[in-house]
Amino acid sequence: MALEKEQLFENLASQGIAITFDDVRIVTGEERSHVKANETDISTQITKNETANSPIISAAMSTVTMAEMAITVAIEGGYGTIPASLSVDQQRKEVRKVKKFMTAYIDEPITVGPDYTIERILKDKAGYDQDFSTFPVVDTENRLLGILTSNDFAFTRTELTNTASQIMTPVEDIVVVNRGTKYKKAYEVMKDNKKKTLPVINSKTGKLVGLYLFSDVARMVEEDKSMYNLDERGRLKVAAAVPTDPEEAVIRMKALEKYADLIVIDSSQGDHDYTFETLIAMKEAGATKDIMAGNVDNPKAALLLAEAGADGIKVGKGGGSICSTRPNLGIGTPQVTAVYECAKAVDRLDVPVCSDGGITNNGDIAIALAVGAKTVMMGNMFAGTDEAPGEVRTLSDQTKWKVYRGEGSLEALQENASSRQRYNQSAKGEVIAPQGVSGLVPYKGSASEICKLSIAYLRQTMSHTNCQNLEEFNRKTKLWRVTNAGLHESRVHDVAVN
Ligand code: IMP
Repeated sequence: MALEKEQLFENLASQGIAITFDDVRIVTGEERSHVKANETDISTQITKNETANSPIISAAMSTVTMAEMAITVAIEGGYGTIPASLSVDQQRKEVRKVKKFMTAYIDEPITVGPDYTIERILKDKAGYDQDFSTFPVVDTENRLLGILTSNDFAFTRTELTNTASQIMTPVEDIVVVNRGTKYKKAYEVMKDNKKKTLPVINSKTGKLVGLYLFSDVARMVEEDKSMYNLDERGRLKVAAAVPTDPEEAVIRMKALEKYADLIVIDSSQGDHDYTFETLIAMKEAGATKDIMAGNVDNPKAALLLAEAGADGIKVGKGGGSICSTRPNLGIGTPQVTAVYECAKAVDRLDVPVCSDGGITNNGDIAIALAVGAKTVMMGNMFAGTDEAPGEVRTLSDQTKWKVYRGEGSLEALQENASSRQRYNQSAKGEVIAPQGVSGLVPYKGSASEICKLSIAYLRQTMSHTNCQNLEEFNRKTKLWRVTNAGLHESRVHDVAVN
């Protein structure tokens, strides 16, 4: 008979044994299942006040999560974490790209004056975060005079001295809507009139108040957004990491919290004074967003962080695929025990736990959630995808790869201060002691497909265990502790996979 989780982990602890993903499998068939995989609810609590439609978070790593990955993961219900290894400006840019992705309505469109030359407009345009070619032309009172679109630029490329007023479509010939027009109505107007953009004006004053873009409005109206992880204004949610340095973290938090929905303190020593100091400094500076703090692998440290005000706890020391902490420092708790013990410790404070690192199979996600994690953070699973930063490398044998780099690798430590802070290696003259490696992972195609597939597998696991939602899944599931023979049998075996 399979043991209740509490008994299993107590028995193991009494022998000084900690376990990880391949040490266990989830028990099925203890009751007849009535749950259909496609009817399961995988929504979850990320931190005290933050929810998501899926438990999947992409790691705060420079070779994993920039805006493109964060957008993909949020569309599939979860969260992407923009790393602190970027400069504040770059990090804010990436976070804003995610926030802007779903904005059908631009409330402060970039405008030009009637006397601006095309040369000047093109020059300014090169410095913007996003590539766009629609510019409302306004007078000094912001009254709409006309509009410039990509067509105007295409046909006037050789006449850079032309002014906006010479080539714009004048306001009399533009379709506009009044302030307060909802995006669904805007969609109909644009479709009926075959317009890619729709200026919104104050009908009394003629002043421009906003702009609808058809591509974005169409996405809002036409796509099934039931899984999208959206904020209350309909924008995709995104997390941003801050380094473990009180001053720097507060600066970043202030720069980011207007856009980021969640702040993550990214430290290899979540149980060290400097993480506590960072957390407290951020809270005292008036944090308006939830803060997830870590990483820890010990229940006492998890509880201390929660008591110090962390709204979520990130668990995982040394289990990451690019991590060389365990061989070099000899420390680290195998992940399944770490997650179980930490989640249990902070449960009464209602602080959710994220299992960070070590997930290499889809089934590991289910195991982490079964033992108490509310979310899983993954680097390796997403590294090597189209949405991860970096180029695909084709080797001489025609295999395709992408670089996946540890934030504590020599390269990262040499390159940026936030990595040194993460690994507590900021002191001048200190020997640089990397705790990670930089390597190649196979090119994997679309991260969106990876998200979809891992969610589909999780739903199947829930069906096999007769669990409708993740709370039930965590409460009801039991684990088998598997033997080496069981593990061998657990994997595809005795077949050459082609
Ligand atoms: P993975 O999904 O197993 O590849 O683990 C990703 C996690 O490893 C990240 O979310 C970080 O917590 C952690 N990590 C990232 N870079 C390093 C490193 O250089 N050394 C140790 N851990 C790292």
